[in-house]
Amino acid sequence: MLEMTLDKSKVQEFLRLLGENRRLFAPVKDRMGTKFSEVADPSLVCLDGLNTNLSPKEVVFPQWETLYTFKEDHANEVKLAAQETLLFGARPCDARALGLLDQVFTWEGIDDPYYLRRREKTCVVALACNTPGEACFCTSVGGSPVGEIGADVLAFDLGEQLYLRALTERGEALLKEASTLTEKATEEDKQAVQQAAAEAEKQLQAIPIPKDLAALKESFDAEIWEELGLKCLGCGTCAYVCPTCHCFDITDETKKGVGRRVRNWDSCAFSLFTLHGSGHNPRTTQAARYRQRVLHKFLYCPENFGEAFCVGCGRCITNCPAGLDLRAVLERLSSLAKVT
Ligand code: SF4
Ligand code: SF4
Repeated sequence: MLEMTLDKSKVQEFLRLLGENRRLFAPVKDRMGTKFSEVADPSLVCLDGLNTNLSPKEVVFPQWETLYTFKEDHANEVKLAAQETLLFGARPCDARALGLLDQVFTWEGIDDPYYLRRREKTCVVALACNTPGEACFCTSVGGSPVGEIGADVLAFDLGEQLYLRALTERGEALLKEASTLTEKATEEDKQAVQQAAAEAEKQLQAIPIPKDLAALKESFDAEIWEELGLKCLGCGTCAYVCPTCHCFDITDETKKGVGRRVRNWDSCAFSLFTLHGSGHNPRTTQAARYRQRVLHKFLYCPENFGEAFCVGCGRCITNCPAGLDLRAVLERLSSLAKVT
């Protein structure tokens, strides 16, 4: 396992070097905080913020993309080749979420080439969280502020320097490419990392997570959904900021016989989400739609993929305009089902 350190004064040079032959995505400041953007100038990269408002899932699963273009009865496929990409500074919860998205977009042997063309070319350097945020609960859903799942390299902020641990062959190759800028990590560095990791994990709150799937199924008609549905505005923010939400819609945009077929993110919170062509809508109330969001993550995904589709990033909590707090909902569902 390759373990290196990088002096913080060399981070920009490191990114410039690795960005020569790759697209570089990293957190940059915006008027709302920080967000993942394609970066041409590494001096704009900001590693001080914790969770960006939008997760980096956009790098592999953009908010909208053209699947193909057409003119009258002739279709033109879009190029499926993607450029090598470096996703730098994703937090461990977001890196883990990419692993969950991988399962969706390859489910039952059906590969989504639009997703995979980007994902296969993306090298992920995750940055461990020394001080988790107030809304974070990654350890309650099987993650860690220093988790390695989904990342090729795990970085730790050690004050004056970054410690970089290669986790995959791709990560190792990346670190070797920048070896003129790094030093081999010392035993002292490794001890500092262990200490920072233990302190970070201690700071996280433990949330009761309902794990009894049969009991969760029984909550389908519980009154709690009516109450929560009255609060939910159906704005879809929670799905858009969530690193694991993956629902999309496909529409044709045409003008005078020329057009394109596009895929856009969608949200189960929207009233039109389940509207059938017949006019029938099986989820006519916000209560049913809010229930769908929670049960999809904590019941249907565990049934289909063996794990909950929540990495505890807290974005849906900090961004919900109605103040709905998923932690409180999970706690109530746990006590309803009398399981944790
Ligand atoms: S962000 Fe809040 S109000 Fe908006 S759809 Fe989600 S739960 Fe409802
Ligand atoms: S459901 Fe909320 S806390 Fe869980 S991963 Fe999505 S945005 Fe983060």
